[in-house]
Amino acid sequence: MTTQLITKSALALFSYILIITLSLPTWAADSSPKTLNVRGHIYMITGQGGNIGVSSGEDGLFLIDDQYAPATPTILRSLKKLHPNKPRYVINTHWHGDHTGGNENFAREGSVVVAHKNVRTRMSQEQLIKLFRRKVPASPEAALPIITFTQSLSLFLNGEEAEVVHMPHAHTDGDAIVFFKKSNVVHMGDIYFAGTFPFIDTSSGGHIDGMISAVSMVLQRSNPQTLIIPGHGKLSDTKTLEDYLNMLKAARQAVANSMTQNQTLEQVQQQRPLAELAKVWGKGFIKEAAFTQIIYDSLSQ
Ligand SMILES: [Zn+2]
Repeated sequence: MTTQLITKSALALFSYILIITLSLPTWAADSSPKTLNVRGHIYMITGQGGNIGVSSGEDGLFLIDDQYAPATPTILRSLKKLHPNKPRYVINTHWHGDHTGGNENFAREGSVVVAHKNVRTRMSQEQLIKLFRRKVPASPEAALPIITFTQSLSLFLNGEEAEVVHMPHAHTDGDAIVFFKKSNVVHMGDIYFAGTFPFIDTSSGGHIDGMISAVSMVLQRSNPQTLIIPGHGKLSDTKTLEDYLNMLKAARQAVANSMTQNQTLEQVQQQRPLAELAKVWGKGFIKEAAFTQIIYDSLSQ
């Protein structure tokens, strides 16, 4: 009985550590915000959570994503160096807390939060992220986007059009990509994890095929001078985005091939269809087995 109990609690502790490990992104190691000038009046702020895109110019500031709530004061200090005013708008690329956690704080500072309507819907209710077995409570009213869209919208600020375009069923079912047309800069949110396997939230309507379509669409709209801000990872160009697209296609094909005889997830994972790709792409937050599961879950739907 005692041994059983110990085994049980050891198992519980192990799965707890596993969940924590899976939930803690590797970029948490260096959490101090850093501001990088991408091009002209477009900046990227790294730190705790997803990369923030910033447009700073004659009309003021607007942000793409706002990381976690505790990071807001340091983000505001970084922004102060770019512009004396508080941000007018915050666009959320999707609902995950490492991109929307600062919404309530920024709304209090006077920012208008804008997102796809599914972002507001998901943030309004408790969510379960299946891969991490993690429940996320509903957000308070003050954190919710107050302007929503279904297909696209444009902000005409700082001398150019920023086109915010919905990509269906990619990382989630509420993703937006922002195209700065004149600056030739794109913010892709978590549709793009630079240099690593991506997390795809299949329990929030994400799908490997939507990821592939969205990345292909961005490449079609780009040219060799385009600069790309990923949700996580380093600032990129189209060459590195093309490598990422090829990886997504190869990984999808490899898992699909392993699934031909109606195998279980465990059987597919044992076959290790992503073993080769993992040598290059499996060193980030999402490892080989988790990415195999993500593609398996997508293709089983
Ligand atoms: Zn995400």
